[in-house]
Amino acid sequence: MDKYAKYIARAKELGAKDARIIPADSVITAEWVRAKCQFGCGMYGRGLTCPPSTPTPEQTGRMLKSYSHALLIHGYGMDDMNKMVPILEKEIFFDGYYKAFSMGAGPCELCEKCPESCVHPHEARPSMEGCGIDVFGTVRSHGFPIETLKTKDGKVNLYGLVLIE
Ligand code: SF4
Repeated sequence: MDKYAKYIARAKELGAKDARIIPADSVITAEWVRAKCQFGCGMYGRGLTCPPSTPTPEQTGRMLKSYSHALLIHGYGMDDMNKMVPILEKEIFFDGYYKAFSMGAGPCELCEKCPESCVHPHEARPSMEGCGIDVFGTVRSHGFPIETLKTKDGKVNLYGLVLIE
């Protein structure tokens, strides 16, 4: 979609390795994603942008039906990705796409510990996986690379998503 092409360029300008406009209905949600957060991630229940504070896979699946297109962003740094997506969300919103909503990768690390309510509500966004999105399945279906890693030293392919309209 030509009218969204500038958001691909803008994502790259902000540090993304690549980005694509995808149909919103190609974003995959699955119940097992929540289980992977609940059993295996130390952030479960500890962050305001992590489960169970985030939309369930079912809620995200229903939410996705309100959108036709999204910007899928490929990057390498979690911090960079999580800083980038709210900027893109804001710019897309100011272009008139009033439903624009972004998701990053991994837990929010803007504060050492979350207080009762978020102190950076304009910057903090949930991760794709924290909202029940099957990131592996979704990005692979669009030709992006992602692999399971055996060690923490491997290069991590990270993804963010901005729902546009
Ligand atoms: S900005 Fe701070 S309070 Fe808000 S979700 Fe991130 S870490 Fe928690």
